[in-house]
Amino acid sequence: MTRSRIDDVLPLSPLQEGLLFLSRYDDSGSDDVYVVQFRFDIDGPLDADRIRTAAETLLERHPNLRAGFRQQRREGRPVQVVPRTVRLPWDEVDLSGLSAAERAAETDRLLQADRALRFDLARPPLMRFTLIRLGPRTHRLVFTHHHLLLDGWSMGLLIKELFALYERPADRHALRPPVPYRDYLGWLARQDETAARQAWSGALAGVEEPTLVAGQERGRATGAPAELVTDLSEELTAALVARGRSARLTLNTLVQGAWGLLVGGLTGRHDVIFAEIVSGRPDDLSGAETMIGMFANALPVRMTVAPGESLVAALRRLQENRGRLMPHQHLGLSAIQSLVEPAELFDTMVIFENYPLDPDTLQVAAGDIRLTEVSEHAATHYPLCLMVLPGDRLRLRLSYRTDLYDRATVARLTERLTALLELLAHDPDRPAATVDVLSAAERWDLLVTRNDTARPVPGAAVSQLFAAQVREHPGAVAVRAGGRELTYAALDRRSARLAGRLAALGAGPEQRVAVMAERTTDLPATLLAVLRTGAAYAPLDPLHPAERIAQVLDDVRPVCVVTDGTTDVPLPAGVPVLRLADLPADPSADDETGGEGGDPAAVPHPDQAAYVIHTSGSTGRPKGVVVPHGALANHLADMGERVPLGPGDRLLAVTTVSFDIAALEIFLPLTRGAAVALADQDTVLDPAALAGTITACGATVMQATPTLWRTLAGDHPEALRGLHVLTGGEPLPDDLAAALTGAAAEVTNLYGPTETTIWSTAASLRPGAPVTIGRPMANTRVYVLDGALRPVPVGVRGGLYVAGAGLARGYGGRAGLTAERFVADPFGGAGERMYRTGDVAAWRADGVLEFAGRVDGQVKIRGFRVETGEIEAALRTHPQVAEAAVVARTEQGGTRRLDGYVVPATAGGESASAQREQDRERAWRDVYDTLYREREGEPYAAWTSSYDGAPIPVAEMDEWR
Ligand code: AMP
Ligand code: MG
Repeated sequence: MTRSRIDDVLPLSPLQEGLLFLSRYDDSGSDDVYVVQFRFDIDGPLDADRIRTAAETLLERHPNLRAGFRQQRREGRPVQVVPRTVRLPWDEVDLSGLSAAERAAETDRLLQADRALRFDLARPPLMRFTLIRLGPRTHRLVFTHHHLLLDGWSMGLLIKELFALYERPADRHALRPPVPYRDYLGWLARQDETAARQAWSGALAGVEEPTLVAGQERGRATGAPAELVTDLSEELTAALVARGRSARLTLNTLVQGAWGLLVGGLTGRHDVIFAEIVSGRPDDLSGAETMIGMFANALPVRMTVAPGESLVAALRRLQENRGRLMPHQHLGLSAIQSLVEPAELFDTMVIFENYPLDPDTLQVAAGDIRLTEVSEHAATHYPLCLMVLPGDRLRLRLSYRTDLYDRATVARLTERLTALLELLAHDPDRPAATVDVLSAAERWDLLVTRNDTARPVPGAAVSQLFAAQVREHPGAVAVRAGGRELTYAALDRRSARLAGRLAALGAGPEQRVAVMAERTTDLPATLLAVLRTGAAYAPLDPLHPAERIAQVLDDVRPVCVVTDGTTDVPLPAGVPVLRLADLPADPSADDETGGEGGDPAAVPHPDQAAYVIHTSGSTGRPKGVVVPHGALANHLADMGERVPLGPGDRLLAVTTVSFDIAALEIFLPLTRGAAVALADQDTVLDPAALAGTITACGATVMQATPTLWRTLAGDHPEALRGLHVLTGGEPLPDDLAAALTGAAAEVTNLYGPTETTIWSTAASLRPGAPVTIGRPMANTRVYVLDGALRPVPVGVRGGLYVAGAGLARGYGGRAGLTAERFVADPFGGAGERMYRTGDVAAWRADGVLEFAGRVDGQVKIRGFRVETGEIEAALRTHPQVAEAAVVARTEQGGTRRLDGYVVPATAGGESASAQREQDRERAWRDVYDTLYREREGEPYAAWTSSYDGAPIPVAEMDEWR
């Protein structure tokens, strides 16, 4: 564009800057939500050429409608460049020859395609018209523009002018020239920015947290937003108007107050922030109310509720605070955000439309044509945006991101908002803090109905259940490993003999026995033996790094350690060691010597510990989860119904024994008369071998992480035929769920932290149905709560809490840590606790839970809990590392890996000398060697392992900036 063709180069208004940033930031090829579409239905003999000329005249009269937006080359500041002339994009489509149904379908298609067509913001005009001829006397005029050009207020003015120009084209030069938009920009430049900054700083002082209904990690929208329109009744609308008059509150304040209460309810806060759109038209700029352009501004609204105060008092303060900020409404949102920490304050918006665009108020009738209907499509990028249109019936248009909310959830939110408006209209003196966004019926449904899982807790412990199976079918195969099989009778004898030895070494109730054994038939025999003595077993994976094994042993303080002698890990001095190799290998020998020490056959109390499992902790020191007998028995009883097993069934166990879910693999079959086959680690890590083993051993059930299932489902789907697939430990991706339900006989998705005993919720997945984590298991209650521990409504994300029979006793010897995560259950009986999982979930309307991520840095790699903070801390201990960040990345094909990024402590100046390069190189190697040990040629992080027992390689720290 040469100079002479340019009319003007102007700065941007605050909202224009924001919108430009958003459109640039998200030019990913999806729809631009700020493409606004207006549709005018016109009745009468419309003259197409005349309306087109009228539209072109608009562009001539209003230079700011000709603006294109670009970054200034030198300073990088955005500017709007106004050319002298632009050509107006104008399209005409004749659908009058089609049938009514075809016409409607084709119109819809046209409108949708038009909305999806982005504007190139640098190439004006950012508007276009399409005239659709539907019949001789009916037309639909579609006016589409980028929100950068126009605000809502301007639309009414623009439509009136358009039709005035249509009616009297000859008057176009006689019409009063509009007040130039640059006058407004000049006004903006004259405002006192310092005073405004001060005012906003004051208004936002003390904000501790942002108010985010969709949470911190909501990501970017994946599709166009949808909206739900609700008209309040005439009675409620009138009652609100009357209340406003008597309490001297504007209708806008009442609506904002209701929204504030709703958002407070969704986020569990009494100090909430959302955004509003203000008209931005200055009182002291003459003609401002007649101008066409972008004047509106998006600004934060803060609503606080003090303890004990009434609703009306909270609303009055809201209104007064807004009033005080009125003179400072010209400050841009980015400037306001730079004043506070955190900068992202809100994720919802309320727009109170003062200028409803209905044909009645527009009263457009030009000659013999008449405007019969105006409709619009406008949206924002916020997860939730409430647009309010006054009228005899207040209209609420709630637009929402479809990847975060479904229609039913949004309908419930609207109902709740309506209920809050009722309350404001009829009961404004009620204490604001007592307002609950849930109805009593909803609370009951969420807390009671959905948790109606009570049933008799089994009285017998694992050792007793096993003994019953031994009596019933002593000759049936119980365990198979490494080419060896033991019958129930043989396994009983072996474990009895071991139990005798253990008891002699001091094993008994409330003692711990550390078990570090390879995956042979002696592994289940040992675990059973420990339980028979009444002691708790603490499993150790011999493949774990010596450092971690030492940490766990130090934490557990066992009465003895059982090993099979295959590991050279140094064991703590003074602790007796029972070497499996010292026992006769031939199980038939167990018979003759079975009496030695005697089988104590203790019947444990349900509260006594059955096992201790160590999980990673953010402190870097593993913590031992202590699970009681009662919790284990309850879990096995539930799983026994869910996965019916009996003689002839075979469960193929693949999980390393240091995870709690290995207990299910071993004890579920052994308490049901079925067989457990232990796959060795090399088989587990080789999909082809594993597939072969599944088929060869005739497995009917197998439990594994999604990561492991993916390796099988991809290349060996035939191995899954007839199998009951149990998956859990990590989120199950949709595509994998589809593959599994397609290939296997049955698929159950299981969810649960170690702290609530193996699994806590379960979903039986059907082909094609969405993946969920289902419902709480027997005697288990789950809650989805906000920050104030109040249940959130269906469809809304919240923190997931688990209570009931599965709860562990806590972390052994770590009372503080236990108290942090096992908290009082506000909905349970006296003294009952619930476990704060750190997971995020949402209830679905049909009573099942959807998993929605984590609140912290915990990630799962092949089922293993990894605290990224823990690894970052380890990285930072290195003297050469100043800063470190660890992220879990999902690679193509769904593999998750850990990436570590470090910043060297030796801050690089401008001279990147060869010496410095060498230093960096050495430092890099040094860090790498410290953190990773070589294991059979594969580097791995010293502190990680996985469900399948393989070390987790951490990607090279290739970012060395
Ligand atoms: P763990 O204590 O090792 O069993 O890990 C428990 C954590 O694994 C949970 O808190 C979840 O974050 C995650 N998890 C377990 N099962 C599932 C599942 N089915 N879907 C999604 N996440 C899961
Ligand atoms: Mg678990």
